[in-house]
Amino acid sequence: MIKLSLPHLAGKEKEYVNQAIESTWIVPLGPFVDEFEHRLDSYLGEGRAVALSAGTAAIHLGLVMAGVKTGDEVICQSLTFSASCNPIVYLGGKPVFIDSEKDTWNLDPELLEHAIEDRLRITGNLPAAIVAVHLYGMPAKMDRITEIASRYGIPLVEDAAEALGSEYNGRKCGTLGNFGALSFNGNKIITTSGGGALICRTEEEADRVRFLATQARENRPYYYHKELGYNYRLSNISAAIGCAQIEELQTRVERRRQIHAIYRQLLSQIDGVTVHDNPSPEFNSNFWLSTILIDKAKTGKTPDEIRQSLLSQGIETRLLWRPMNMQPIYQNCPYYTSMADNQTGETGIGEWLFDRGLCLPSGSSLTDNDISVVVDSLKNAISMK
Ligand SMILES: *Cc1c(COP(=O)(O)O)cnc(C)c1O
Repeated sequence: MIKLSLPHLAGKEKEYVNQAIESTWIVPLGPFVDEFEHRLDSYLGEGRAVALSAGTAAIHLGLVMAGVKTGDEVICQSLTFSASCNPIVYLGGKPVFIDSEKDTWNLDPELLEHAIEDRLRITGNLPAAIVAVHLYGMPAKMDRITEIASRYGIPLVEDAAEALGSEYNGRKCGTLGNFGALSFNGNKIITTSGGGALICRTEEEADRVRFLATQARENRPYYYHKELGYNYRLSNISAAIGCAQIEELQTRVERRRQIHAIYRQLLSQIDGVTVHDNPSPEFNSNFWLSTILIDKAKTGKTPDEIRQSLLSQGIETRLLWRPMNMQPIYQNCPYYTSMADNQTGETGIGEWLFDRGLCLPSGSSLTDNDISVVVDSLKNAISMK
């Protein structure tokens, strides 16, 4: 079976986990947690990382730090995984969804500005925060988005869960907004077996996130709480795995980019298949997942038909994230798109992409031969009409 994106062991995980156990630091703090944060900081080159129990927890605390409160509206990219926006609702906030653009597949800056003005007109208030996502590792147009966010004074939370190692204009994703969320879930670029991090701009903010993530416990000899806390710190055991994983981070990112380059080359000959690529030189995706668009008129197949055919050949692929405006739980939220009058009946670029897109096996442990097998099977799936 060729899987979509499996954990890729670096070698030293056992050694570090053993060290953690022998030191009896089997708790959600400890030397490996500190070391993991240091290594993240030096890899990212700017910002202050706080290691947390999940990427979702990082987005949640990013929104707390942004000041989101009950009843606030928060803008979020619609084409994403539900973990980008669920934390808005955890805080009693109301998501406002924005469609993507066709080149990056991410938050459309023009629509963002339009939506901010429209919410101000309708509610009398500015949205309390913006969640921008770097989907499949592709950076969003952060120069435009940060300019708009800072012009209106709205805090920007980057969901960089899929984008560790991606760069925009030479700067690492996760360091470009006011707060950046990373994920170390098993299927991401590197893993702690489950974990995440929130990247802050200053040490003071990072300390405040650490405080909130450890039950907002005041510094007194007894338990004393003035604020609502969370139990979101990463365990020292998980951080030990993370320390081993981060030693290979650069090679893991390079491998994902190589896999994308092989797909791009081998699939360029197939009529009706387009590999999603960096739109221009300021974008440098980590290509967490290599993704393609399939033109049914030319291939005779829908993405799901191709998915099923590949599955029967032992290859796991996945349809794109189904946009949030199409999810029953979120279908009544405000949603902004520029494609309302389209001919196809689709609800926007997000749905347009969802109807055509497919994620290919992209794990850094895949061999060149695995990729050839995927490409040959894809060709078969298309010609078996
Ligand atoms: C994985 C992911 C998350 C959540 O990360 P967890 O560590 O699984 O909680 C959030 N947003 C996106 C876009 C993701 O892909």
